[in-house]
Amino acid sequence: MSETPYFIQLKEAVEISCRTTIKTETETVPLDESHNRILAKDLSSLVDDPAFDNSAMDGFAMRYQDTTNPPQTLDIIATIQAAGQEDNVIVGPNQAVRIMTGAPIPKGADSVLQVELTNINEGKVTLQQEGMKNFIRKRGENLTKGSISIKAGTILTPSIVGLCATMGHPDLPVIKPLKVAIISTGDELVSPGGPLQRGEIYESNSFGIAGLVKWLGHEPIRMNSAGDSIDELRQALDKAASSCDLILTSGGVSMGEWDLVRKIMEDEGKIHFWRVKIRPGSPPLFGTWRDTPIFGLPGNPVSSHVVFRALVAPWIRNTTSAKGPLEVRALARLETPVRPSKDSLTFRRVSIEMTHSGLVAHQKIHQGSGNIASMALSEGMAVLQPGREYSIGDMVEVMIL
Ligand code: AMP
Ligand code: MG
Repeated sequence: MSETPYFIQLKEAVEISCRTTIKTETETVPLDESHNRILAKDLSSLVDDPAFDNSAMDGFAMRYQDTTNPPQTLDIIATIQAAGQEDNVIVGPNQAVRIMTGAPIPKGADSVLQVELTNINEGKVTLQQEGMKNFIRKRGENLTKGSISIKAGTILTPSIVGLCATMGHPDLPVIKPLKVAIISTGDELVSPGGPLQRGEIYESNSFGIAGLVKWLGHEPIRMNSAGDSIDELRQALDKAASSCDLILTSGGVSMGEWDLVRKIMEDEGKIHFWRVKIRPGSPPLFGTWRDTPIFGLPGNPVSSHVVFRALVAPWIRNTTSAKGPLEVRALARLETPVRPSKDSLTFRRVSIEMTHSGLVAHQKIHQGSGNIASMALSEGMAVLQPGREYSIGDMVEVMIL
């Protein structure tokens, strides 16, 4: 163990873990199944958008020069509701056509005025204002055919999926979701559902971690919990390594004699680092088990969440080349005193409120690392630098949960 990096900065831990990558695969899925996935290749538009000059308003289209010095009265020569109806229409001097939003602009017209600013009377329209040239949406003003609009690595958010459809793609190349094994460890764990015997607790980490894996667009495989036994752990790790891309364990990585995940990794796996300067969540380890990357997360429920967000999420996004902000961070004013640890980056769960003078952060819940409610009932985590003094009124960085 002597040469294994020990109790290191979070940044260094992320760097070391990210040196281990796995090969991802690509698959093609219909738009309907692409939400929250990661685009695998650059995507260019198959069409111009808009495909033709069209009206941004329900109203009238005419020559701008016939609309100066309003009010002006023009002859209505046609109505255009849809493509094709403009084919034989040419708007000449003192003429206008009725036009619907999205309908093609006929030849001759170079401006539009919305219907609310017109009066219609016996085949004529009186314009109360000049026509507006910018009420014509120009062909290709949003996208031009062939231009690369979405880069590989983009997370397919709802509006990006809409953009892909606008570009003419019925299906998309995406990264195959990683299979992420989740193994909780501990003799005391039982599944929620039955009554608890003395000394037992409900196993909760695997459910929360599974949600975090899905949040990143991957496939959690919640395996049976392993008891505190080297043989059980070995069996579980072997099964996970043979069927999954990444292994996450929870529990058993601290300094104690019964911290058998650490022990088995020392004796039979490879550890790339152990312990990180973050609070809560200092015990994690990273390494490989039979060539499959593994994060050993702490057992305390808050710690396992914090470590996932601080360490596992950046690793998963790196190995899948996912781009874009992982989470929203903002500055908030402290309303309660908070204290970081002396030597570790400290994450305090806070409620966040919007006020006239900006965001305020309030630490209202007991912060024990075993108290998952402190995470679940908070809107953010204040990110506190080690050893610094924080007073009421100070601005702190918060990670929005
Ligand atoms: P450990 O790191 O194994 O010593 O666990 C630290 C604390 O977290 C202990 O109080 C455990 O009972 C608790 N714990 C460990 N694993 C889980 C789990 N999967 N769900 C809920 N609590 C857990
Ligand atoms: Mg344990």
